[in-house]
Amino acid sequence: MKIIHISAECYPIAKVGGLADVVGALPKYQNALGLKSSVIMPFYDNKFTADNTFVSVYKSQVLLNEVAHDFEVLILKENSLDFDVFFIDVPSLLFKDYVYSFDDTDRFLAFQIAALDWILTLDEKPNIFHCHDHHTGLVPFMLQESFKYESLNKIPVITTIHNAQYQGGFGYDKLGFIPEFDKENVGLLDWNGQINPLAAAIKCAWRVTTVSPSYMEELKLEANGLQDLLKAESQKCVGILNGIDAAVWNPEKDEYLISNFSEKNVNLGRGKNKKWLCETFNLDTSKPLFAFIGRLVYEKGSDLLPEVFQTILKEKNCSILLLGSGNKEVEEELKALKEEHKGNYDAFIGYDEKLSHIIYGGADFLLMPSRVEPCGLNQMYSLRYGTIPIVRSTGGLKDTVVDIANENGFGICHDEVTVAEIEHAIQRGITLYKDQDKFKKTRKYIMKIDHSWDASASEYIELYKSIN
Ligand code: ADP
Repeated sequence: MKIIHISAECYPIAKVGGLADVVGALPKYQNALGLKSSVIMPFYDNKFTADNTFVSVYKSQVLLNEVAHDFEVLILKENSLDFDVFFIDVPSLLFKDYVYSFDDTDRFLAFQIAALDWILTLDEKPNIFHCHDHHTGLVPFMLQESFKYESLNKIPVITTIHNAQYQGGFGYDKLGFIPEFDKENVGLLDWNGQINPLAAAIKCAWRVTTVSPSYMEELKLEANGLQDLLKAESQKCVGILNGIDAAVWNPEKDEYLISNFSEKNVNLGRGKNKKWLCETFNLDTSKPLFAFIGRLVYEKGSDLLPEVFQTILKEKNCSILLLGSGNKEVEEELKALKEEHKGNYDAFIGYDEKLSHIIYGGADFLLMPSRVEPCGLNQMYSLRYGTIPIVRSTGGLKDTVVDIANENGFGICHDEVTVAEIEHAIQRGITLYKDQDKFKKTRKYIMKIDHSWDASASEYIELYKSIN
């Protein structure tokens, strides 16, 4: 079975968040299970494309509102990934030093149309199109409705929602950008008087998946306006928990770590990573180290962190390290705390892949007070590396973290996203840390929990088979 994933991100080529990690891992695991899985993605102006050599396999033009843009399909001259990647190079639109920005509508429309135009020319067509998020949300619509793609419309198409907050809506002034279709069916594009790519995908895809069973249920109640649509389409919707790439996220081999470790030498290995973090950020190694890694946005509960940190740090019985960027006000508030809490707190505002790995390998607890968390990969990485997760029970966090007060529990969970509940959860972490015996046993226990893609990759295969 030949699967084509269509996505804006794919690790290690271009990563903004969890979408990249999923699209960089799932095809690998699918290939190991005997499928032929590949990825189509935009060609960006970034480190990966600068460091590699590419070969052109197809050239044409994509029409956007009667303006012709040259495009090429590129492949890697030497591919060391475990799956094929086809890059859509539209120099006038896609080749930018960012993945997302103000001009996404035109860029991702060009991407989707160019990708399908190229697939039309292939002798061997895929058996499944697997689209990811709203950037590829018009693919299911175009396959079903656009006259020029009629020969592809029997190929099943799946859309995976990684985050329903972002839907890619745009105005009808750009309707003419979409390859011609019967205008009687324009309603398939519409949600609340706008063209809404995510809504169009939910309506037109043969199956809709999201990245955890709990998030699927939550979306039927609240999906940034699309809840009624998801409820109406619920017979074709399913939640499949994301996995992690256990080869990339392996504390025994991770090249980013200061010290590698397994369950056998976890105390020593993690101790060295923690020491490096504490030396680098001027923190006290003897105190429990709480960390946050992520986008500083409302969904992640990051707006509450400055107040939580201010209160917790007054007691001077723990250290806190934050890695993230996003909302400028929150960034400023987090930076402002540095002076007052020197020695117990630091914040690295920015994106740093290496540092994130060292934090997973050295911090004692990872904070995820998310309001919305479709799946969440951070908690799975932290489990694998032995950092105890402190999470708000929602979406994928609810499906992967069991509170330590329960039988076989190992994490710390809270129900509400309030300053008081997050503080209380951190206090529970401090108490657990004092009981070093229990703390270390828990750490070893969580490292053995298997969240690799093995199980979930098989679930996707069953889904593909059910519509093929
Ligand atoms: P989301 O996709 O909503 O941002 P996920 O938990 O699904 O959240 O995935 C986040 C991914 O991005 C993880 O791999 C995490 O380590 C990484 N990440 C987030 N922010 C940063 C940052 N500032 N520096 C390094 N890695 C980050």
